[in-house]
Amino acid sequence: MFVERSLACRAALLMAGLAMVTGCQTILGPRPLSDKWNPHEGPRVSFFVRPGSVAEQNVDRLSVVIEDQYSSTVASLRLSYAGRIRGYAYESPADAHMESNFAGKAYPETEAFGFVCVGPITDNTFSLMAHEANHVLIINGLGRASTYFVTEGLASAVLSETYHKNGRHFLFPWTRMHRAELPKVARLLDDGEWTRVPENIAYNTSASFLAWLLDAYGPDPLRAFYPASSDSIVGRIESAYGRPLDALEADWLRFCDNYAG
Ligand SMILES: [Zn+2]
Repeated sequence: MFVERSLACRAALLMAGLAMVTGCQTILGPRPLSDKWNPHEGPRVSFFVRPGSVAEQNVDRLSVVIEDQYSSTVASLRLSYAGRIRGYAYESPADAHMESNFAGKAYPETEAFGFVCVGPITDNTFSLMAHEANHVLIINGLGRASTYFVTEGLASAVLSETYHKNGRHFLFPWTRMHRAELPKVARLLDDGEWTRVPENIAYNTSASFLAWLLDAYGPDPLRAFYPASSDSIVGRIESAYGRPLDALEADWLRFCDNYAG
């Protein structure tokens, strides 16, 4: 048995079907593994599935989706990481000791992630799985970020849409539709404020803003401010992009207003 820091994510779905809400916190874990796992070796991601589970029945599809995500995350952030990671597909929230059908955890230090995988397998299954795997890939490639905004936002900002449309095709229209509710980015960059904002607002706003930054400016300036803590990150962003945060934010909102998808 070992103890390490992990990220526990919770993703709930609104009835619209595409609205993903994730919540993560740093906890101790994971619990000891039982021996009731069947392994499935992919090129870079090894899956472990419960015998007879929905995940086992769909493991080839899960493997294709996660291998694509791996390539996409590495490319979009120019990561040098190339390690093998492990994904544990739990067959129920109880099996995972998590609280919903859309929950997951990432264990970056041991290059592993877990997620609840119940039927039917949907785009939301894929995006939850990919979000958790992204924590592992990003933290191994760039180290740990120091803000919730960057940690959680980036794991969804780099979602590949090869096999689902829960990335930019969800985030940018969501931003447009929720303009009236959006807190200022500067507020969300403050970890003390992040936890006071509704989870779906905090997670989707950060993911949308970071996805737009990546598309507009590439990974270099993002990597430059990635490790900054709440008390310095606004200055680090403005230095990296050579522009005030308010100006970047206005451009992002204008882009989302006009996003045709
Ligand atoms: Zn997360």
